[in-house]
Amino acid sequence: MIHTLYIEEEVAEHPRTQAICQRYPRATRIYCQRYGEIFNRKAQNFRLQKKAPSLILARKFKHFVLEAPLSYNIGGQRNFYFSHMLNCVYDCRYCFLQGMYRSANYVLFVNYEDFDQAIVDTAAAAPDGEPSYFFSGYDCDSLALEPITGFAKHTLGLFEKHPNAWLELRTKSIQIRELLTRQALANVVVAYSLSPDLLVRTTEHKTPSLERRLAAINTLQQHGWTVGLRFDPLIYCADYQSLYRDFFRQVFSRIDTSALHSVSLGSFRMPTGFFRNMVKLYPQEVLFAGPMAQENGMVSYQHELEAQMFAFCEQQLLTYIPQSIYFPCTDDS
Ligand code: SF4
Repeated sequence: MIHTLYIEEEVAEHPRTQAICQRYPRATRIYCQRYGEIFNRKAQNFRLQKKAPSLILARKFKHFVLEAPLSYNIGGQRNFYFSHMLNCVYDCRYCFLQGMYRSANYVLFVNYEDFDQAIVDTAAAAPDGEPSYFFSGYDCDSLALEPITGFAKHTLGLFEKHPNAWLELRTKSIQIRELLTRQALANVVVAYSLSPDLLVRTTEHKTPSLERRLAAINTLQQHGWTVGLRFDPLIYCADYQSLYRDFFRQVFSRIDTSALHSVSLGSFRMPTGFFRNMVKLYPQEVLFAGPMAQENGMVSYQHELEAQMFAFCEQQLLTYIPQSIYFPCTDDS
């Protein structure tokens, strides 16, 4: 439920702004010049705001599409990401957003058409018609707020017309109604982030359970949608081997593995500054008291432990899927 809408004056009359205002007729509306006045101010408490975030409706002016980190790929050479929204309805304790932003309010950039143009231009610049991959869900969850944002509905319409551009919708959400109302697109991957249910319950607050995500994947596959699986980040606990062994067994017994597009695996890693901010927010959090190490401005699990966990999970994964659809995410270069 949204109790307060902050609205940039410039987008006050935008049809998406109007539609959202109609959806929340009782919400307090506060008009502002630029969203940064509310979003970036000092002395905000992320943890308090997370209890009842406001929605900020804004316009984005530049950097609509950015190059993805080198390790971020699912088989293509040209990889980009874009963020129509900042912040997330979920509250994963390992999420870098809480270390990166001062505010837990959501920012929605309503000028989707400018993102569209940047995506089309970027795809058109590919040499020899090489496919381009566009990742959404970097700074938010791609589907969780779909009934409010209509983001997937809009963006699928774009990719339908540009088969040489691929879209990854990264999500933990079971908000798939929009996808089920339309024909599956061959150039769209619905990429589910999955973790063992014990970790979902203890670290991925407010997210759908593992079982509900698997059910959503099943339904999507039955409707012909291409699904990817993202096991990222791996979280350490003393019995991680049995935890992840059982988890992979559960996942691959529930879905059609032969129809999977891609599977990726990633370790926990975080810029040191973000990590410090997160520890300040949640000093009692067990996750942050784990066997961590700091190197080259990044915090991760101690090297040997990280390598052992990664190797173990990789070996388990490759008993279920072919190497050809496996994309380890090992380096943030
Ligand atoms: S779902 Fe993703 S973006 Fe949302 S809180 Fe969790 S890690 Fe962050």
